[in-house]
This record gives sequence, C-alpha cells and structure tokens, in this order.
Amino acid sequence: MSASDTSKYRPETRLVQGGILRSQFGETSEALFLTQGYVYDNSAQAEARFKGEDHGYQYSRFANPTVTMFEQRIAEFEGAEAARATATGMAAVTLAMMGQVKAGDHVVASKAIFGSCLYVVEDYLPRYGVTSTIVDGFDLDAWRKAMRPNTKACFLESPTNPTLEVLDIAEIAKIAHSVGAKLVVDNVFSTPLWQSPLQLGADCVVYSTTKHIDGQGRCLGGVILGSEKFINENIHNYIRQTGPSMSPFNAWVMLKGLETLAVRVRAQTDTAGKVAEALSKHPKVKKLIYPGRPDHPQAAIVKKQMRGGSTMVAFEVANGKKGAFAFQDALKIVRISNNLGDAKSLITHPATTTHYRLKPEQRADLGISDGLVRLSCGLEHVDDLIDDVTNALKAV
Ligand SMILES: *Cc1c(COP(=O)(O)O)cnc(C)c1O
Repeated sequence: MSASDTSKYRPETRLVQGGILRSQFGETSEALFLTQGYVYDNSAQAEARFKGEDHGYQYSRFANPTVTMFEQRIAEFEGAEAARATATGMAAVTLAMMGQVKAGDHVVASKAIFGSCLYVVEDYLPRYGVTSTIVDGFDLDAWRKAMRPNTKACFLESPTNPTLEVLDIAEIAKIAHSVGAKLVVDNVFSTPLWQSPLQLGADCVVYSTTKHIDGQGRCLGGVILGSEKFINENIHNYIRQTGPSMSPFNAWVMLKGLETLAVRVRAQTDTAGKVAEALSKHPKVKKLIYPGRPDHPQAAIVKKQMRGGSTMVAFEVANGKKGAFAFQDALKIVRISNNLGDAKSLITHPATTTHYRLKPEQRADLGISDGLVRLSCGLEHVDDLIDDVTNALKAV
C-alpha cells in the first residue's frame, strides 16, 4: 500500500483524496483496520522492523494504517510535514506542551484559553518543575516581558473561547522565536479551513478533532501537527511510549469527517454570519462578537490572518444570568450543551458551565459576563435558526 500524493490539488480535493492507503481489495472508502498488532513474514523481518530498517507497522499504540490515513490527510490539508493523532484534544494539548519541556524550563500562555488547557499550564506543568506565566494575549508587550532565557514554549488559542477575540499569531510567533521558544496554537475555533497558524509562523498546531473535524458529535480525538523535526523530536516517542494514541475506529470517523469538513464549515460559517447580522440589530442583545464583522474588536487582525469568519457567535443577552437562562430555555431547535462544532446547533452559558470555576473577577477580566452566551451554529436551515433565536429572545 502507498499513499496517494495530492499535494498539487486544491484544499477541498485534498480533504477527500489525501492520505488514502488502499488494500489489495481496492476498496473505495478507506478501510477500518481494527487490529492491535501485525504479523511478520519471518524473524528477520520482525528484527528489521524493530530496528527501523523495515518500515511496516508493529503495534497500534505506535501506528495503525487507518490512523496514518487520518494523519496524512490532515497534515496535507494543514500544510504540515507531519501529524500525530491522539485520543482526545486534551491529550494533544498536554503532549504538545509536555513533549517540549523539562524541569527548569518556562512556558508562557495567553489567559483566554480552553479551561483544561489553562489547568495543564497553570497546575500540572509547575508540578514537574516547569514554571509558567499567563499573559493577556492581546498585549504584545506582556508577551515580550514574559519571555525568559529558559522559555521553551508559548501557547495560545485564537479565536478565544468563549468571547471569540482574535490574537496576532504572526507577532506572537516572532516574540517567542526571539528567545528560541516554540509557539503552539490551538486552532479549534477557526478550523483548518479558515486559519493556518504554521503559515503565520507558529511551530505546532493542535486540534480537538472532537469538534468540527468529526463535526457530527460522535467521537473524541485530537491531533498535533508540525514540521517533521518538531514531531520527531518532541511528540513521536512521547505518544509511542506513554500511549495516548487515537483508536483506529475514531480515526476512521475523523477521516470521513474530513471529507465533508469544507462543505460543513463553509455552510455553518455562512449561517453564523447571518445569525450574527440578525442579532446585531436586536434590542435584547447588548453586545455581539463575531469574527468577520467589521465591528469585531480585532477586525484588522481577523482580515490579516483568517480566510473566513467562524461557526461560532458570542453575544450578551439583556438582564444578566436571568435573561440568558430565559433565552436558552426558550430555544426549540438550538440545544443547551457545552460542546461545539456539531451539525446540531448548540448553546452554552459559559459563566455557569465551562467557566463556572473561575472567580467572578477572573470572568469579568475575560469578558465573560453573566449575560454572555456562546452559540455554535449547525447545519439546520439558517431561517429556522434565526426564527428560533429571535423567538427565544422574546422570553428575555
Ligand atoms: C474541546 C476543546 C479542547 C479539548 O478537546 P477534547 O477533545 O474535549 O479533549 C481543547 N481546546 C479547545 C479550544 C476546545 O474547544
């Protein structure tokens, strides 16, 4: 079996044709190799494979053909030399950071990141002697001031969760590189369709493939992408020896998810833009943040680094928590959930769910007011969604 080379094609074609490894049966759809291990023709082949002289598979914790197909397809799409799939998005984030550091090193991260990512940086890394500094991601001077000679890695998310603000990836990459640190970008909210952090100067991109890449709410997964050198030096052995590998079944679901990624994300982004437009004029919406609108707080950076808006809309409903709850409870199509990137539209009240552990001052600092809701637009008809949202606002 050998993978097809699709690098000369356009993105949509690569999402369908990239990384295919066809077996002797010539199947159309990618095969699901549910196998733990592999057999060898003879002892010498087993020996050669363990020595790395023969490039076949050994054990599915290290690699599996279905997982390889997923890794190659997403790597080609992202424009990365290499990718490693993981069991969850958090496994990808944790490994991308842990794989680079040792006791005595220092990391810097922006404060508006997914809750569990903040946990890894603020609580877990310091347990192993890796100090961390959390900065306001918009403040380039704060990034500059946070850099130390032992700073090994920087971490950010853009657009941020849940307020959808946008950080300048190219500028932050330059600051990281000035002290020899690597920049890791969590690109979940923009998806690989709308933003390519590696092209902007980042060294590593991570995804929770649980979100738009599956896109239909089925499997958990993650992936780490970067140069061959970055992955080989920091990630490859870490996964191989510690075992947070993606299961072949989940890789197969993600592989099929990639085939429809561009179609889905385009449609969901289109819908989100129209929902945002309808909300922007609504008297019960106090504040609206949507990347792609000229009134977005970092509209110039959005234009510079993103090719499209977002499938997500953040807005503040009048009357605080009471208003937000009344609004969410009156929705008929959009369901209350902390998840996102699904074909089904989902809504979250961050102050009482994903960010409830934070102190009120911390939430205020991140712009998470009691009236803020985060809407993940799905694939339903846009007019039904606009009707649902505007009807529910009557309850506020
Ligand atoms: C969901 C998410 C994660 C974590 O991914 P899991 O697959 O749930 O482990 C990390 N970062 C962002 C931005 C996310 O949305």
